[in-house]
Amino acid sequence: MTDTPTEPVKIDFRSDVTVELVKSAAADSDVLWAARVSTAGEQSLDELQKDPERSKGLINYLMRDRHGSPFEHNSMTFFISAPIFVFREFMRHRVGWSYNEESGRYRELQPVFYVPDTSRKLVQEGRPGKYVFVEGTPEQHELTSRAMEDSYRRAYETYQEMLAAGVAREVARAVLPVGLYSSMYATCNARSLMHFLGLRTQHELAAVPSFPQREIEMVGEKMEAHWARLMPLTYAAFNKNGRVAP
Ligand SMILES: Cc1cc2nc3c(=O)[nH]c(=O)nc-3n(C[C@H](O)[C@H](O)[C@H](O)COP(=O)(O)OP(=O)(O)OC[C@H]3O[C@@H](n4cnc5c(N)ncnc54)[C@H](O)[C@@H]3O)c2cc1C
Repeated sequence: MTDTPTEPVKIDFRSDVTVELVKSAAADSDVLWAARVSTAGEQSLDELQKDPERSKGLINYLMRDRHGSPFEHNSMTFFISAPIFVFREFMRHRVGWSYNEESGRYRELQPVFYVPDTSRKLVQEGRPGKYVFVEGTPEQHELTSRAMEDSYRRAYETYQEMLAAGVAREVARAVLPVGLYSSMYATCNARSLMHFLGLRTQHELAAVPSFPQREIEMVGEKMEAHWARLMPLTYAAFNKNGRVAP
């Protein structure tokens, strides 16, 4: 009897992240409505279109003086695909966020792994709190790609071997590294998103600079682009006031 040759598993290596805006109920008018109810009561909806300059000024005032709650009456749901190490950082954001992530217990995890492309600065210099990242040499990039791909391949083969031997998915997944891609729904409002962006992006307008890991920043930049289209006045006020969440 001969062994039937098995097809080698095709492993995908990616260097990007994806962010889809699945649904939203988010507009600058939501902020105005919420803010004006305190003075105009139930008439506040009628006030929205009356004076655009006043509306812009009100949003800027709320942002500047950190009256944050009017920025909570909206919702954005994103579908995000990124490596597990990004989600570990992401889920530290507890307030104003809801998450659901794909399960490694109920489904077989797919062989998709993160390998940085050549635009990713590879070398860290300086001391904690003062790190800068500089370009890697071609040799460092070549080593990084090769080492990651070899390691991912071995880990995934071991995972498959364990599954084939009848080991439960929830046990076998322990051999997989944090460079594995996962996916999740994340729902937030403009206030919680601003807090996230203030911490997880580097931006020249930031009054309080942050130094996030590049890969979570890539997710943040894509969410920011969606949000900027939905709420342009709020977005402009966020930037104007140093990208500090109100
Ligand atoms: C550059 C960078 C480096 C980091 N490095 C590390 C690290 O080395 N190790 C590590 O463990 N984490 C690290 N973190 C994660 C960080 O400590 C926070 O957990 C994360 O940024 C979420 O911020 P947050 O708690 O303000 O957000 P959220 O959890 O969304 O909270 C929002 C706000 O609600 C209030 N709040 C929430 N929970 C409480 C509470 N229990 N008590 C009082 N107030 C509360 C606070 O005002 C808080 O700012 C890092 C974050 C960044 C941006």
